[in-house]
Amino acid sequence: MEFSEGLAEAMEFAQSALALMESNSVPPTPENFAIWYAHATGRMPDLSKEVAALLDQPGAITPERNREIYERYLGGPPDDLIVQRTGARMEEEIAGLLSVISSATGDAENFQTSIQENLRDLTKDQGFEGITRAMKSLVDEAQKMQSSNSEMQRRLEASSKEIVSLRENLAEVQREALTDGLTGIANRKMFDMTMDRAIETAARTGEPFCLAMTDIDFFKKFNDNYGHQTGDQVLKLVAKILEGSVRDGETAARYGGEEFALILPGSKLDEAHVVCERVRELVSSKQIRNRSTGESMGNITLSLGIALFKPGDSPTDLVQRADAGLYFAKQHGRNQTVVETQLEAEVAAG
Ligand code: GH3
Ligand code: MG
Ligand code: MG
Repeated sequence: MEFSEGLAEAMEFAQSALALMESNSVPPTPENFAIWYAHATGRMPDLSKEVAALLDQPGAITPERNREIYERYLGGPPDDLIVQRTGARMEEEIAGLLSVISSATGDAENFQTSIQENLRDLTKDQGFEGITRAMKSLVDEAQKMQSSNSEMQRRLEASSKEIVSLRENLAEVQREALTDGLTGIANRKMFDMTMDRAIETAARTGEPFCLAMTDIDFFKKFNDNYGHQTGDQVLKLVAKILEGSVRDGETAARYGGEEFALILPGSKLDEAHVVCERVRELVSSKQIRNRSTGESMGNITLSLGIALFKPGDSPTDLVQRADAGLYFAKQHGRNQTVVETQLEAEVAAG
């Protein structure tokens, strides 16, 4: 859903949403915030009617009921828009703080300087981490400040609380929007974002950068034999092994279904090959066992393909070349890693 309100109006909606949530003890999850925010705008009458009905009945607000409303009216994962707007609301809150302070005198001076520095940081670095950092020192400053003006003290405290709650909300929305619900690793959206960044860096610095794509072998048969839920456990296991095999700056992502990806900036083909082989061997060495019955379900294997970034490559180009290696691995017995240069050698040999 798109909201088109200006910042000041958005801030008011956010505040009244948070106030209503607080007074009704609604847990401040991103989804609940989205519901109460939409309600505060008054632009979704059906949603508002449901919220009003909830507020009328004591005990009616349950996590299940909130989730149902969220899915019915707002649906889908929280999107960038919410993240951006939460960030914008925080900036608005800071601007409000600043005006409170500029109307005060005396010992507020140091605080004003510090708050302006924080604001400058905020506008300089729009990134999420920049905002978080600026927020933290802002809140610290606000808490440190001793003022004889009790009204100002009260408003500062209220604002600090508001900022902390918005910041937590933003962090949660960000995390959820970029995480795969089943496995807990980076999702497709995060994959796309990370690929763009890695390509941009590799093009600029000339550093090598590899992409590996992997797909579970005969997974359909595994699902057919042991059920989809056991299959899901296997997906989690593979994701855990992938996640455990990457270093800082590298990313393991669920590309879709039973396909995963490793984004390896700074790695050449032979280095990426080492990482992939470690993953492949680790996965194939695990005995899959039914926890309750102890029944063994054998082991599962992975096929992997690796491509190295070439100047001018788009994300799709790299995915396609890594996939070509993966396909080759499937055609030649599965449970193996194929590097793109191997394919070139095959083609040359005819
Ligand atoms: P291959 O070795 O050629 O990759 O064979 P395969 O059976 O793994 O390949 P195929 O693409 O035919 O099947 C993929 C299977 O992955 C089918 C689908 O049911 C399963 N799958 C995709 N997503 C999920 C999921 O989220 N959970 C579970 N349990 N299975 C999934
Ligand atoms: Mg597949
Ligand atoms: Mg498969």
